[in-house]
Amino acid sequence: MASFPWWHSFRSFSLLLVLSHVSIHFADGAAYGTPYGTQTGYSQQEYGPQKFLNQMQDPLLRLRTQIASTDSRLFLDEPVNPSLQSAASKLSITAMINRILPCQVVDDSQIKEPSVFRYHNYDELTGFLQNFSLAYPSISRLYSVGKSVQNRDLWVIEIGNNPGVHDPGKPEFKYVGNMHGNEVVGREILLNFIEVLLRNYKSVDCIKKMVDATRIHILPSMNPDGFERSIPGDYESIQGRANFHDKDLNRNFPDQYAITQDNRQQEPETLAVMNWIKAYPFVLSANLHGGSLVANYPFDDNQDMSKSYENTLYSQSPDDAIFKQLAAAYSEAHATMYEGVPCPRYKQSEFFEDGITNGAKWYPVAGGMQDWNYLNTNTFEITVELGCWKYPREEFLKRYWNENRKALFAYLMEVHKGIKGFTTDEQGSPLSGVTIRVEGIEHVVTSNEDGDYWRLLVPGDYRITAYKKGYQVDKKKATVYKDKMATSVNFTLKRLSTAAETGQYDIENEGGWRTIPATAHQSDKNLKAGIAHIPTHIPGQSSVETSTRKDAGADVSILPLAGLNSGAGDGVKSEGSSKMTALIWLLFVCEYFKRLH
Ligand SMILES: [Zn+2]
Repeated sequence: MASFPWWHSFRSFSLLLVLSHVSIHFADGAAYGTPYGTQTGYSQQEYGPQKFLNQMQDPLLRLRTQIASTDSRLFLDEPVNPSLQSAASKLSITAMINRILPCQVVDDSQIKEPSVFRYHNYDELTGFLQNFSLAYPSISRLYSVGKSVQNRDLWVIEIGNNPGVHDPGKPEFKYVGNMHGNEVVGREILLNFIEVLLRNYKSVDCIKKMVDATRIHILPSMNPDGFERSIPGDYESIQGRANFHDKDLNRNFPDQYAITQDNRQQEPETLAVMNWIKAYPFVLSANLHGGSLVANYPFDDNQDMSKSYENTLYSQSPDDAIFKQLAAAYSEAHATMYEGVPCPRYKQSEFFEDGITNGAKWYPVAGGMQDWNYLNTNTFEITVELGCWKYPREEFLKRYWNENRKALFAYLMEVHKGIKGFTTDEQGSPLSGVTIRVEGIEHVVTSNEDGDYWRLLVPGDYRITAYKKGYQVDKKKATVYKDKMATSVNFTLKRLSTAAETGQYDIENEGGWRTIPATAHQSDKNLKAGIAHIPTHIPGQSSVETSTRKDAGADVSILPLAGLNSGAGDGVKSEGSSKMTALIWLLFVCEYFKRLH
């Protein structure tokens, strides 16, 4: 026990008094409310939280950080002693795996625990990963996805029984830690997780079965430069949060709605991770942060950010149901997250039912990584806040591991749910780029190089369509069961021989034209701009008139086709040959936007 001079407690007390007058909210570094009440537009996003905290709050935060790092009593700021136990947290790790992958269940005490609980700086982290990948060459591989601004490697360790190879039909999963350099718990528990997977592979049957059935990629630190600048013991500051260019990487991804100062240009770390995500057929992912205790799911932003800052609005993705299930899979297997008890400093303002929240409902973020994953690839990602303390003292790392270890397994096993299968042609050859569409969900996934695909879904009955240009549409029905291995649904697509047949088919088969891949949202403004460019691509057609009208509450852009094809009327609604023309034009618009991306 350390003893403190009398003025120490006075200093803490007076500092807390000062802080109680600052009515900002900076979970995960975001701030909103009073300081921005009169601003509009995207100004909060561009000039708001980060800059504000830099200018106004840094001295106070630094002081508080210094005190926190010497006063372990402040650790009580983490929610403690759960009064309830969720069903998931009662199950042993191997029992959880066994529900989906039949295996030999053992008590958690049979699992070898991590050997050390301490922080690893960049050199130590590199050494840790090199040592483990050398010690377990048959089930691991170390690779770098690129460099940070200061030339540090973004190391990824792959764990699986066929390192370096995508086995057809085996889903790929990733964990990303330490994107904010001063949120360090994720970085260390991912090292713990790596050690536990590798050291228990031979001795614990269920862990072996899980590793054999999944290709697991772990990036413990996406922001190694930020980590090196962070302050041990930091409770809540932003020192080391951004990369070396002072860019917040979780505001730096291309966004569906907003181009801001923070995401106008992608940073080296962001580009490296974007290329990585595109290079592997990831199905599921989690991005581990700190500063609160909650599992946060897409969307992170709203079309109108200015409104949603004043009164945060739920921003529902087409896959809201499965995202809730994914977030709950983590929170319910965590020691305390599912209780939804907020960090003590937010007690007045936050309660997360089941320990989960929609990103935008909590606070809107433009340029976040999870939305980019979902909107640009087949990957579903959530963002998990692992605890109130961003850079806790080293002696508490073991506690964080104990709170999270079951959740790390439980969440990973979600990759094995939903539906999965292969898309092939009539000869049985794999067919890549096949669009898989689930009726009622306006979000598609596509099959990979080996023709394999995964579609995460909550339990229920589904109608699924597989579509590829030049092939006949294939449709199947499937049922997804609770806590069961994904239902296999394979599609065989018959090739259409002639161009005429292709065109005819696309029109005549209901559902065909509706399955055009929509991998990015286009604003009405963008769409109109795109349509206006079309005449330059059409020989002999000097202009295309565009108009906008209200239809079911939404703006619909109409391409009048009368100039091209007499009697065609307003395109989409007309019949016969003009309908085909309209279809070609719509496809043209889609292709046009694909090229823009
Ligand atoms: Zn963060």
